[in-house]
Amino acid sequence: MSLEVGKEAMCIIGHDQDTRLKKGSTYKVLGLSSPNCKCKVLMVDIGLSAIGASGKRIRMGQKLRCTNCNIIFMSDGRQWFTENHFAPIDSVDISELEEVLDEQIFKV
Ligand SMILES: [Zn+2]
Repeated sequence: MSLEVGKEAMCIIGHDQDTRLKKGSTYKVLGLSSPNCKCKVLMVDIGLSAIGASGKRIRMGQKLRCTNCNIIFMSDGRQWFTENHFAPIDSVDISELEEVLDEQIFKV
C-alpha cells in the first residue's frame, strides 16, 4: 500500500514543529512530489499553507533553505511533509490499520 492523491492518509508521526499535523488524524492527500532540493524523499501536500519555524506564513516565491541538504529553493506557498508522517487508509478495517501502524513504527 502506498499513498495516493485523492485518498485519505492517517498521520502516524506528529511533526516536530508544525502542530497542525496531528498523530492519529486523517488528511486527504492533495499532492505527492519530490522536493525542490536534493533530498530523495516523497513529499505530501495535505492542503496546508507553508509556515516557518516561528509560525509566520511563508509566501509563494520566498526562498527557503533545506535544513537537510542545504539547497536553497523557492517555496510554492504550500506546506509539504515527508511521507514518513503518513500511512495510507485503503479500508476501514481497523486490524489492517494497526498492522500498518506497527510496521511504520518499527522502521523509525
Ligand atoms: Zn533537501
